Amino acid sequence: MSNSFCVFCKIVQGEIPATIVYETPTTLAFRDVNPKAPHHILVIPKRHLSSLIDLSGDHESLMGELFSSARQVAVDQGLHITGFRTVVNTGRDAGQEVDHVHVHLLAGRPLKWPPG
Ligand code: AMP
Repeated sequence: MSNSFCVFCKIVQGEIPATIVYETPTTLAFRDVNPKAPHHILVIPKRHLSSLIDLSGDHESLMGELFSSARQVAVDQGLHITGFRTVVNTGRDAGQEVDHVHVHLLAGRPLKWPPG
């Protein structure tokens, strides 16, 4: 359920600090330490899953909870008023740096599309 080498698992365990903005029994949302937009929040499942590739049918409800949490964060922070982007990077070419499934929630300025 938890990976002792995973930085996001350590945040879930309270072993390293993070600015937590929202929490449910199965998900956690905290501010990105290196923000790429005025608002940059990461929403993660508390249990360790390396990437979307590791998902199976067992995780369908968890992924629903993950996006429900992302929506709630956006509403709580007022990001839905001007809009926001949700991104899930998977693998090397997408630039995935942390091998724990996470949804980036980006907002606070016009966001270019497509991203580079
Ligand atoms: P990705 O490239 O999709 O794997 O995104 C990983 C994100 O995690 C990057 O935007 C990092 O800035 C962010 N990050 C890495 N370590 C931490 C941390 N300890 N607390 C908050 N955000 C982090």
